[in-house]
Amino acid sequence: MQFSQPSPGLLQNIGGEWIGTWSLGGVSSALTPTQAGSWIADSLNNPLGWGRAGVQFQQLAPGSPDAAIIFHVVDEITGPNLGTGVIGLCSHYRDGSCAIQLESGQYANPDLVNHEAAHGYFFAEHSPEGSDSIMEPLEELGFVEWPSDLDIAQVQAWLGNPPDPAPPELQRYFFPGGLETYITNRHIAAGALARMTCTVTDPAAAIIRPVYADTHAHMLSGDRQVLCGGLSTDRQGWHNTEWQEAKGSGDLFIAFVVEAEPGVSMDELNIAHAELQLSGSGDNAGRDIPN
Ligand SMILES: [Zn+2]
Repeated sequence: MQFSQPSPGLLQNIGGEWIGTWSLGGVSSALTPTQAGSWIADSLNNPLGWGRAGVQFQQLAPGSPDAAIIFHVVDEITGPNLGTGVIGLCSHYRDGSCAIQLESGQYANPDLVNHEAAHGYFFAEHSPEGSDSIMEPLEELGFVEWPSDLDIAQVQAWLGNPPDPAPPELQRYFFPGGLETYITNRHIAAGALARMTCTVTDPAAAIIRPVYADTHAHMLSGDRQVLCGGLSTDRQGWHNTEWQEAKGSGDLFIAFVVEAEPGVSMDELNIAHAELQLSGSGDNAGRDIPN
């Protein structure tokens, strides 16, 4: 089986699972919508189907905008460049949507559904006639054969490993606690040196660093920059950074942001005191800088 697009095609990865969503479109009067829906659902979800490659299918309500593929059941598939005897047709559109037509006369044939689903979700192309694949051209579908072991292995290889789940949100807070009290407006001269000190009473794996923003609103919305290097809070006691050139200058809002490493509870950490010290001027040569 060949794939004309990179994985995951029209699949989505939800919580580490590959999911193909679909909904039922038009249904020929030869079948009831219930028959049509269960034909498709039973074919896709059969234990012999693409589930063996780790792909699950989810039927959504008709008209749902979240459905990756809409299945239509029609009496006859016709089109300008179609020959006779076409029993299924998968159409990918420029806007990313996809429609699959199934001929009603093939009712209950699972291979047709799984063949077209592979075109649709995986962008699979036809395998040569005579190969061990459900992706042989449709005319070859005489008896139910299901995706072969080779098909399953190829889809698995195409999918690769699911992406790592998103890393847990860092726990973060403004030191010492209330936003209004510790965001302060300070003037930082161009070229000033800065360092920070803090006293850790109860250590925990986190970093406290001074940040600045042009306005209070920017500070709160996260549009803020690091002012100078921060300190690790995994050791008890009094710590300070080296003097460094302050990254910002002018009238700025300054705050301390504490970010805990994943899995660390902020309740473990107790910082008694944190302070940003500024040299006051860009010309520090020959100046005494207090410790
Ligand atoms: Zn085909």
